[in-house]
Amino acid sequence: MDCLFCKIINRDIPADIVYEDEDVLAFNDINPQAPTHVLLVPKQHVATLNDLEEDNLPLVGRLSFAAAKLAKEYGFAEDGYRVVLNCNEKGGQTVYHIHMHLMGGRRFTWPAG
Ligand code: 5GP
Repeated sequence: MDCLFCKIINRDIPADIVYEDEDVLAFNDINPQAPTHVLLVPKQHVATLNDLEEDNLPLVGRLSFAAAKLAKEYGFAEDGYRVVLNCNEKGGQTVYHIHMHLMGGRRFTWPAG
C-alpha cells in the first residue's frame, strides 16, 4: 500500500520513533510546530476519522492514552498541551493514515488557524 505512515510502521522509511506498543507507533514530526511535536499512528491502516468502524474504535482511545503517557514523560502534562487530529483536505490532513499530533512545550492559542 502506498501509504507514508504504513512505510514508517514497516520500517521501510526511517523515522525518529519515540514510542511503540502492540497497536500504536509514535515518532517525531519531520516539520515540528512546537518544541515537542510527535505523531501517533495506529498500526492498522485507517485513512481518515470518517473511515473508523465500530470494531476499530478502540484505536483512538489507544492513541489518546499513549499521547497522555508521552506528555507525562516529556513533563508538560500538568502545564498543558495540544492534541490534533486533522480530517480531510479542509481540515488540514495531508497524510491519509489517521494520526494524532501531540504538541507541547509552548502555549497554544484558540481558535486554531
Ligand atoms: P496532517 O497535515 O496530515 O495532519 O499531518 C501530517 C504530518 O506529517 C505533518 O505535520 C508533516 O510534517 C508530517 N510528515 C510528513 N511527512 C513526514 C515524514 O516523512 N516523516 C515524518 N516524521 N513526518 C512527516
